[in-house]
Amino acid sequence: MITNTGYETVSQLTLGGLRMNAEIIGVGTELLLGQIANTDAQYLSQKLSQLGINLFYHTVVGDNMIRVKQALAIAIERVDLIITTGGLGPTMDDLTKEAIAEFLGLRLIAHQPSIDALEAFFVKRGRTISKNNYKQAYFPEGSIVLPNSVGTAPGAIVEHNDKVFVILPGPPRELQPMFENHVIPYLEAKSDEKIVSKVLKIYGIGESVMEEKIQDILANQSNPTIAPLAGDSELTLRITAKTPRNHDPLALIQPLENRIRERLGDVIYGVNDDTLESVVVSLLTRSSKTIAIAESCTGGLIARRITSIPGASTAFVEGMVTYSNQSKIERLGVSKDTLNKYGAVSYETATEMLKGILKATGADVGIAVTGIAGPGGGTPDKPVGLVYIAIGDKNGYMKVQDYNLLGERTRVQQTASSIALDSVRRMLLNID
Ligand code: ATP
Ligand code: MG
Repeated sequence: MITNTGYETVSQLTLGGLRMNAEIIGVGTELLLGQIANTDAQYLSQKLSQLGINLFYHTVVGDNMIRVKQALAIAIERVDLIITTGGLGPTMDDLTKEAIAEFLGLRLIAHQPSIDALEAFFVKRGRTISKNNYKQAYFPEGSIVLPNSVGTAPGAIVEHNDKVFVILPGPPRELQPMFENHVIPYLEAKSDEKIVSKVLKIYGIGESVMEEKIQDILANQSNPTIAPLAGDSELTLRITAKTPRNHDPLALIQPLENRIRERLGDVIYGVNDDTLESVVVSLLTRSSKTIAIAESCTGGLIARRITSIPGASTAFVEGMVTYSNQSKIERLGVSKDTLNKYGAVSYETATEMLKGILKATGADVGIAVTGIAGPGGGTPDKPVGLVYIAIGDKNGYMKVQDYNLLGERTRVQQTASSIALDSVRRMLLNID
């Protein structure tokens, strides 16, 4: 089986013995005008929930000093942890730090390491630093400054009485590493309990079947808890255990995980951040095998998913999008007779596509997909959603199966690609 031990270690946050409640304040007129979506709030919400911190409010306020201070005044009455996003840039309308400083009655003080980093940033890019830029190196007195590994605006943490303000830049590519690298460790250090969760990733059974199989386990959960989540075509089970800081939550998770694995077996394809494609790539890499893919209705999606995994280059030989009959004939050697007699979407064509791609590339393992993604092109015989998926290897093993997939075009393509990847996983593990 897959042996990924990438547990996520996260913490229950308490401060002064109290459970910490949080609010996110997004600062930016762009947000209010609908010019950008508040993806920072979405990201932070997911992270806070994993950390076991209760997030009670999302607030959005424009780049306006009075209203930002009003938002802070409301937040401080109802939560302990206030996270602001945006408004850390060099321009006049960037005023988050100024508002927090004024609100708390703190001065803004120059932070020399940030000034040095700022100047180095500009020198490296051959740009001249303007006076405004230095604004980014000023922080409310007593701040813990959070370095920005990507941009010029550092963030900050301000502790004030029993409240904590976390001040983060707006651009997600700056905010996210800052949160991961600096805020999570800060929050963890404050906690006296540990929460660890492990996610089991499941493909190939429906939600109700899964719940039926583990009904009694689901019914009797307290610590660890189990949270099932149904995605588009995948299922996940998040097992979460809570212990005092000096205990090991994994000791609670493991026995429960074992029981679930006994019930569900090989439909559990991975854990935590595993995806079908990452598992397939790692199985191929570990057995030093290569793969090639001939795709029709999925239009390269399977190849795209595999090549999105770092390290795919050792396993991935070639992907062909053989969309037309002509291309199936010329590139893969599918016979004209087969196409005439059975059609492009048929068991026979899928079989010949698979043989063709294996032969053309010399890969160890192959996938061929042909189907009708819709919305047009369906017939009573061959309705929209009919897809043939062939997988096999160069030693002659082959499995071809037809599926009637539901949903609109992209859904059919997505599902077909997932089934293909899962089928290859099963073949590589000798399941079935
Ligand atoms: P900069 O130094 O780039 O000015 P900043 O910290 O001052 O950054 P803002 O000026 O508020 O942040 O926003 C800069 C950009 O960051 C926005 O144009 C937008 O692309 C992105 N951004 C800001 N807030 C959010 C948010 N809540 N969710 C997603 N993206 C955001
Ligand atoms: Mg800005």
